[in-house]
Amino acid sequence: MHHFINFFMHFVEHRAQRGPVETHCRAAALDFMRAHQRRQAMGNIVQCRMLGFFRSLRAFDLLPAGQDFRAIARRCLAEDMRVATLQLVADGGADIVKVKASLFLRHLRIEHHLEQQIAQLEQGTRGFAFASGLAAIHAVLSIFKPGDRIVVGDNIYGGSYSQLNEFFTRWGILVEAVDTQDIAALEAAVKGDRANGIVPAQAVYFETLTNPLLKVNDVRAISTVAHRFGALSIVDNTFVTPYLQKPLALGADVVIHSATKYLAGHSDVNAGLVVVSGEDLASRVYFAQNRLGGVLAPAECDAVRRGIQTLALRMDRQQENANAIARYLLVHPLVKAVHYPGLPGAGDQRLAAKGLKGAGGVLSFEVVPGVDPADVLNNLHLFRLAVSLGAVESLAELPCRMTHFELPREERLKIGITDELVRLAVGIEDANDLIEDLGQAFDIAYARYIDRHADFDVFQQLTSGGGVCLI
Ligand code: PLP
Repeated sequence: MHHFINFFMHFVEHRAQRGPVETHCRAAALDFMRAHQRRQAMGNIVQCRMLGFFRSLRAFDLLPAGQDFRAIARRCLAEDMRVATLQLVADGGADIVKVKASLFLRHLRIEHHLEQQIAQLEQGTRGFAFASGLAAIHAVLSIFKPGDRIVVGDNIYGGSYSQLNEFFTRWGILVEAVDTQDIAALEAAVKGDRANGIVPAQAVYFETLTNPLLKVNDVRAISTVAHRFGALSIVDNTFVTPYLQKPLALGADVVIHSATKYLAGHSDVNAGLVVVSGEDLASRVYFAQNRLGGVLAPAECDAVRRGIQTLALRMDRQQENANAIARYLLVHPLVKAVHYPGLPGAGDQRLAAKGLKGAGGVLSFEVVPGVDPADVLNNLHLFRLAVSLGAVESLAELPCRMTHFELPREERLKIGITDELVRLAVGIEDANDLIEDLGQAFDIAYARYIDRHADFDVFQQLTSGGGVCLI
């Protein structure tokens, strides 16, 4: 960075006799230097009127031969990523200058590396990095226009549901929910009903594993139906990652990730990634990314890139743990149902037939009626109460009050998300410790249940023929 400042100071000194433009250059360089020093002192991010500075240099042909402002800014990026992220602030000039500034920054972004990395992993044409999973979804869905129909899996992440139903519908996108495992129902929904003015869908949007019930969607079968009617197949692959499934290779057109989850893997970054198949889609998504601006800052790109390096190791351990926990829950007397595609019976073969190499690290279970799931959740020590997933730490949550609170209760119940459903996102801790943690929380929940029913007269209930559920 000092090298960079010295370059400017030397440059400004060298041209010292040129009048008002040089004064502007000198002021800008000093401004930059002071801001840099301030940043070092405060650990803060600099804002400096660099763009005006560069513009002046270019306009008055003051850049040294062979140097252009892009090369200088690239050096900024290389030496101090955070300076680059905010440094090139438009200096209050015309709007056109601001637009140029943002385009210019995006061309320089070091997330290019991450975008190539994810495109390679997903075997697609091109990758795109976004500031969050929701920003990625926003950009992808923005390629559609008013009047387009999108058929959506009826069991998707609550935030995606909300974005589609509370945002995109306002802009004229027509959204129809369907059970994507019911291929006949899917086909009817995608086909539409021209006689009654329902045009064929432009896209099918779904998640590889449904959330939070972990039903396996058959990417190949769904994409085949979509393509039969000229629709795109768009898959949110967050829950399984390209390590366990590559949807583009199974026929999908667009893959989306909340990289906040497994790809980054350490609960320390918000990020979204998209990979598309084909140049046409690439330019449509690029246009949306560029104009909407929800791009990922370089430091976050680097965190995701680093996370991906250990994805396979983490995922193997998370799956192993999830398997052990699912088997424990299956025989626990306080558990009514376990949802995990890796359970015996759900079967590896069935997974493989649908293109999945494994069941992932998320599972959900329902407690028996009368037991308060909050009593389980509030008494966990190793599992933390949090909505995310895919991190090295184990997390637990109550979908009806947390991840899926946006869904009206009737909708939730219709698709099986009961008030008793608990979701676990299993981390890389020791499986026995995690099971022990669940065990002691169940014990407390059971004791609370007994307390709540202390004055319940079992004998009277039985003799009056009312029946009783003993657990
Ligand atoms: N897609 C899925 C399947 C998710 O579970 C989430 C968040 O939980 C998102 C997308 C949104 O991602 P982000 O939190 O990075 O915006």
